[in-house]
Amino acid sequence: MSKITQGKFKILSNKRVGPDCFKMAIGAPAIVRKAAPGQFVHLRCLNSTEPLLRRPFSLHRINRNNFEILYRAVGRGTNLLAKKRKGDKIDVLGPLGNGFQLSAFSYQLSAILVAGGIGVAPLLALAEKLIKAQRKKDILVLLGVKNKKQILCERDFKRLGARVQIASDDGTRGYKGLVTGLLRKVLRTNEPTNQRTNELTIYACGPKPMLKEIAQISFRLGMAAYASLEENMACGVGACLGCAIKTRESYKRVCKDGPVFNLKEIRW
Ligand SMILES: Cc1cc2nc3c(=O)[nH]c(=O)nc-3n(C[C@H](O)[C@H](O)[C@H](O)COP(=O)(O)OP(=O)(O)OC[C@H]3O[C@@H](n4cnc5c(N)ncnc54)[C@H](O)[C@@H]3O)c2cc1C
Repeated sequence: MSKITQGKFKILSNKRVGPDCFKMAIGAPAIVRKAAPGQFVHLRCLNSTEPLLRRPFSLHRINRNNFEILYRAVGRGTNLLAKKRKGDKIDVLGPLGNGFQLSAFSYQLSAILVAGGIGVAPLLALAEKLIKAQRKKDILVLLGVKNKKQILCERDFKRLGARVQIASDDGTRGYKGLVTGLLRKVLRTNEPTNQRTNELTIYACGPKPMLKEIAQISFRLGMAAYASLEENMACGVGACLGCAIKTRESYKRVCKDGPVFNLKEIRW
């Protein structure tokens, strides 16, 4: 618990980056010093008790003195966030959760990062870490979107040296269909990765049906697969049990035991 900071920090920028999507940078050296990809922050969207509950957001980018979040305005809290301006202060609790567990072994393997919609948020920080730490790491990013207007972060991943493929539901860009269809295709042809499947690790974030399908694919092929899960949560620190999910062992808290889980662990 001592590694968690709570305080008011300055918003450095808050810009629209797509339809209903925004990127906010928050100057918080005390938080970034301890933060890792896959962890999240719990934000008070208004400096009052309404809405009462904080809202959780993945660390999208972890910089030297600030971090960024990438968020979609879907309800009361996120629409309040979208109205914040540079210079405003925001109450942050973080970093929270376990983050992606990266062993020396993970760095030796190639990775496929699979994002469903706004699920791309935590995967950029992960790609930055994998690429910085391992220089030769081969990273393929699959971005699943409804249509081409919703594509986020394509340039950011490419700038890092990762390869990017798009799946759009309506076929306006790339593969026509769900991103899991694209993943199956990539694994079947094995061209873009040129690796045996047991030398690949999948990291994913997105809607539950997408993660469930990735769990099935990875299990069948004997691949390692990890995902950042999203559940409605209240306290964010493991006390209220509001975000418990069923795993093979027991119930686990997304906020404290996760949000990143080995997909083999989850009971769907
Ligand atoms: C660990 C974690 C990391 C997250 N990271 C991001 C992120 O990087 N970017 C981002 O845009 N969103 C992220 N989310 C989801 C984000 O927290 C919700 O979109 C936000 O809390 C909605 O608040 P609201 O007041 O705007 O919406 P509300 O008015 O509370 O709800 C609007 C809609 O969003 C759904 N919703 C609310 N909370 C969640 C939730 N926690 N997960 C999924 N759906 C929810 C509701 O069921 C409802 O349909 C994350 C959630 C978790 C648990």
